[in-house]
Amino acid sequence: MNNQDLLNIARDFGSPVYVYDAEVIVAQYERLVAAFAKAKNLRIHYAVKALSNISILKLFKQLGAGLDTVSLQEVELGLAAGVDPKKIIFTPNGVSLEEIELVAKKGVQINIDNLSILEQFGSKHPKTPVCVRINPHVMAGGNANISVGHIDSKFGISIHQIPHILRIVENTGMTVNGVHMHTGSDILDIGVFLYATEILFETAAKFKALEFIDFGSGFKVPYKEGDVSTDIEDLGEQLSERFNNFCISYGRDITMAFEPGKFLVSEAGHFLAQVNVVKQTTSTVFAGIDSGFNHLIRPMLYGSYHGIKNISNPEGKNRFYSVVGYICETDTFANNRQISEITEGDILSFSNAGAYCFSMASNYNSRYRPAEVLWYNGKSHLIRERETMEDILKGQCDIQLDELIVV
Ligand SMILES: *Cc1c(COP(=O)(O)O)cnc(C)c1O
Repeated sequence: MNNQDLLNIARDFGSPVYVYDAEVIVAQYERLVAAFAKAKNLRIHYAVKALSNISILKLFKQLGAGLDTVSLQEVELGLAAGVDPKKIIFTPNGVSLEEIELVAKKGVQINIDNLSILEQFGSKHPKTPVCVRINPHVMAGGNANISVGHIDSKFGISIHQIPHILRIVENTGMTVNGVHMHTGSDILDIGVFLYATEILFETAAKFKALEFIDFGSGFKVPYKEGDVSTDIEDLGEQLSERFNNFCISYGRDITMAFEPGKFLVSEAGHFLAQVNVVKQTTSTVFAGIDSGFNHLIRPMLYGSYHGIKNISNPEGKNRFYSVVGYICETDTFANNRQISEITEGDILSFSNAGAYCFSMASNYNSRYRPAEVLWYNGKSHLIRERETMEDILKGQCDIQLDELIVV
């Protein structure tokens, strides 16, 4: 995709709009598979919550991927996309026993992350094999908000509670067919990740009926020049070999699973928005766009960086801008960012807009959520219509208010 393709999409479908380049998604998927080529049985479960449009799920189905889901609704989306329930894993946190039972009934692989539900589920459904999510207590990244493996985390069953898991398994007669970890959102140092996998291997050896080990995700992609990203090829080489050795000592071949979101879709996404107003104040120049944290909340929620290009004037002189939204709150996308000179009406393109962007969008300020377009085989395909006033009113009950009685 080039600038002109993006400009054409903004012209044809309006702004703001999310654009996903299927070629980039396919390339990332193939890169991951190639990195782990030495592992005998590999399964990639795409983490649906990163970008959950049904056309994206169909693309992953076409590639042979399974899905990682965190809600009954994500499971239903995956099934609607035609994905085999056996290729879907359900890895929720803090959901009810009832929700887990509903998902299990659909033939989806259950992954349980606390002892209370494990005991209840195992007592009621000893014939349904489950995976257990382990917390190896390893800090994967630097940011406490996106590291989920450490000691205070709400995710997973502590490795110190393995004896309790084994007791529940024995008492209920249930089967554990998988062990899982998801240590955090940023693997900056594969040494730390490999250390956590050793803890998982040690745990895995204690369960005799395993079909797979799921190593989660946290594969980091670059957001700006000079960013540390996960060296997936190096990790793949080392972990595949280690996994094959584990299978030998375990006595049979099992499946190696991963569940990346960001790695597969982040870089495929572009978010296009139009500049409504260029406003010079005493201290800065603001570029105000036809969007806000209702459409792209990551910069405000956890300070994430998204590259911003003025694709209407790519060769212009660079100037400093603060790029802000139209929401009646502080919604700054970027401060003091060098961008090619902006004129009102220009289209700005935000990079890394594939993961956790549209899927976190809301109707705050009663704005419509944007359209989504998939660039596939050199053509643009609308995969979600821009919302309308009907969507805003949908589900709201128009009650008749009698005259207010003041007591
Ligand atoms: C969110 C999530 C993922 C995906 O994480 P990325 O950082 O997007 O790769 C994988 N597994 C689980 C259980 C998750 O909650």
